[in-house]
Amino acid sequence: MSENDHEASHDEAEVARRHDGLVARLQAVRDRMAACGGSGVALLPVSKGHRVEAAIAARRMGLDQLGENYAQELAAKAPVVVGAAARVGWHFIGQLQSNKVRMIADDVHTWQSVDRLKVGKEIAKRAPGARIFAQVNLSEESQKAGCSFEDIDDLVRALRELDLDVAGLMGVGAAADQDATAAGFARLRAAVDRLDLIECSMGMTADLELAIREGSTMVRVGSDLFGPRE
Ligand SMILES: *Cc1c(COP(=O)(O)O)cnc(C)c1O
Repeated sequence: MSENDHEASHDEAEVARRHDGLVARLQAVRDRMAACGGSGVALLPVSKGHRVEAAIAARRMGLDQLGENYAQELAAKAPVVVGAAARVGWHFIGQLQSNKVRMIADDVHTWQSVDRLKVGKEIAKRAPGARIFAQVNLSEESQKAGCSFEDIDDLVRALRELDLDVAGLMGVGAAADQDATAAGFARLRAAVDRLDLIECSMGMTADLELAIREGSTMVRVGSDLFGPRE
C-alpha cells in the first residue's frame, strides 16, 4: 500500500487524542494491578468497540498485543494498524464460529476462546500449531460461552492431539456476584495447574483485583483503559 492509502484509513488527529488519554489510563490500570500484588501479571488491552485509532495509539506506545471480540472487527483493524504503526499480536477473545477462523488466521497470535473441538479443528487446519487457550464457563450457566469444568480435561487433551500449542485457560467472571466470581477464578486456576498449563487468563475492568488474588497470569482490560465502548 502507498502512503496515501494509510492516510485515508485513519485519522492522525484522533490518534493523538487517543494517545493522551491512554497514557494516563494505562498508568492507572498498572497502579490498580500493583496495589493488589499484580505487577508481574500480563495486561492485555482490549480494543473491541473502539475506533482503530485507539489501537494505533496503543501500538505506538509499545503495547504489541491487543484483544478483540469480533472477527470482522479484527480483520478490518489489523491491516490499518500495521500500516500506521506496526504489527500487533492479536488475541481473539470473543465467541468464535468456525467459519470465521480463516478470515483472521494470519493475524491472531493467541486464540483465547476455544471452547469446542470443532473450532480447534478449524484453527489447526488454518493455522497449524497455533497458540490457544481453552475457554471455561465459570458460571455453569449453559447459555454462557465456554466449556464446562466437567469437560475441560477432555477438551484440552483433544486439542493437544491436534498439535495446537495449548498454553492456558480463559474465563469470564460472573458480572454482579463477587463470591461466585472468586470461586470460579479459584477453580480456573486449579484447572490450569492440574492440566500443567501456563496461562490463566482471568480478570477484566470489573474484577481484576479478584482475579489477581486468585492467581491470574493475564488480565484483559477494555473500558478502564480505552474508556466506555463507542
Ligand atoms: C470485553 C471483554 C473484556 C474487557 O472487558 P472490560 O470490562 O471492558 O474490561 C475482557 N474479556 C472478554 C472475554 C471480553 O469480552
